[in-house]
Amino acid sequence: METASTTMSTPLGLLAPVISSDKVIWGRKAEAVTKDSLKSLFMVLLAPTWVLLNWVALTRYEGSLITALAALWRQGLIDFLQANQLQPTFAASLGYLAWFAFQAVLYVVLPGPKCVGQRTPGGLLLGYVTNGLNAWVVTHLCYLIGSLAGFFDPSIIARHWEGLLVAANCSGFVLAFLFQLKGYYQPSFQEDRKMSGSLVFDFWAGVELNPRIAGLDLKLFLNGRPGIVAWTLIDLSWAAYQYQTLGYVTYSMIVLNILHMVYVLDFFYNESWYTRTIDITHDHLGFMLAWGDTTFLPALYTLQAQYLAYYPVHFTGTEAAGILTLGLLGYIIFRTSNAQRDEFRAKHGELNIWGSPASYMKCSYQTLDGKLHYSLLLTSGWWGFSRHSNYLGDLILSFAVCAVCGFDNVLPWAYFIFMFTFLQHRMRRDERRCLNKYGEQWHKYCEVVPYRLLPYIY
Ligand code: NDP
Repeated sequence: METASTTMSTPLGLLAPVISSDKVIWGRKAEAVTKDSLKSLFMVLLAPTWVLLNWVALTRYEGSLITALAALWRQGLIDFLQANQLQPTFAASLGYLAWFAFQAVLYVVLPGPKCVGQRTPGGLLLGYVTNGLNAWVVTHLCYLIGSLAGFFDPSIIARHWEGLLVAANCSGFVLAFLFQLKGYYQPSFQEDRKMSGSLVFDFWAGVELNPRIAGLDLKLFLNGRPGIVAWTLIDLSWAAYQYQTLGYVTYSMIVLNILHMVYVLDFFYNESWYTRTIDITHDHLGFMLAWGDTTFLPALYTLQAQYLAYYPVHFTGTEAAGILTLGLLGYIIFRTSNAQRDEFRAKHGELNIWGSPASYMKCSYQTLDGKLHYSLLLTSGWWGFSRHSNYLGDLILSFAVCAVCGFDNVLPWAYFIFMFTFLQHRMRRDERRCLNKYGEQWHKYCEVVPYRLLPYIY
């Protein structure tokens, strides 16, 4: 280990590169076995079922997932599905297409800062235009002006939600299929294309790492725009629905909107940081991201707002302030730990963290072109506290945004349950990837920072 003020040639820094053969194994799985295909198929079926079931439980079973599941058990699958069919509508489908096209236009025309992402397994360094904040502002201004001027009802999204959900779902499947075809026949970068030998696994996990059309990055667009820009808009629309049906907006709905808005604005304000996170640097663009961004995110991440609009939860001002404070605390941990690592990498370790020179390890790795590169792994500050302190902040925030719905029903807690499971899985997946990338050096790093999330607990 070394500090910013010493030289780079430490014992750990001199460890052998991870891979001495010409086959680079880090990055997305290169070959899928039957188990991978079955798992992918399971996820492709399970995830949409869960999202649609949530909506059915919310609107047909008094917001209770348990009552919905009990009905499913009683009636059997076919009868349950027949009784609870979701209805597509022409207006919602058209609206969804218009929304998608509007975001695509904003992505192409709006100015924004330029940044460079992280080196890919194929050895590429790609540039990005991060105009997400501008897209968010323009979109929300249009919504505000359009509603105030009476062009549309501010609860328009909430009132068409079922039709939008069906349209989003279909678009997710279609996009994943198109991305798979593009990956096979027209890849943007051969270096970072992976075909596993399983059509199902490729559909789920994606073939291309950074597919682009006319220089525009499809993954950055999909991850951010139709999903995350929509997030706060959907929340606002459900708040408007609550106002129209209840006569006022509850503290719980206000706290939820504040916390989500902080998180989303932070995301766009720091969009260049996002290009160096796992979504962009590691995950290929398949069903997981395409359907996830178009459907899962807008549906599941706004479930608390949907729930509060149908089943208002009343808190006192003090209780609401308590939940808000907890959520903001989670946000501060999330932001400061992510910023710490980002700044540390940008300054190549030459900075002070919590009042002392940063301590870190210098690790080597190889890319597909056979070149050797170096990365620094921070071992002080939040990153000395645990190996995924940024996830800790996210989990606290997730808890707070679900707590606004109270503890009567499990349904609005779906987001926290998802984040907990997802980040657990992600920690393990990321650590496997880092082990493949850095080899023995990663084990050494884990000895220096022994805990994943919380010292002495996990
Ligand atoms: P990270 O941003 O934590 O990225 C992990 C990568 O960081 C590793 O693969 C490694 O990449 C690098 N790294 C690991 N340890 C160190 C270290 N000590 N020093 C420097 N670099 C290190 O992961 P995510 O992309 O998953 O998360 C980013 C944030 O986004 C998190 O706060 C997470 O909670 C949040 N998030 C939120 C989601 C949501 O839906 N709300 C979804 C996903 C993430 P390498 O060395 O190869 O550069």
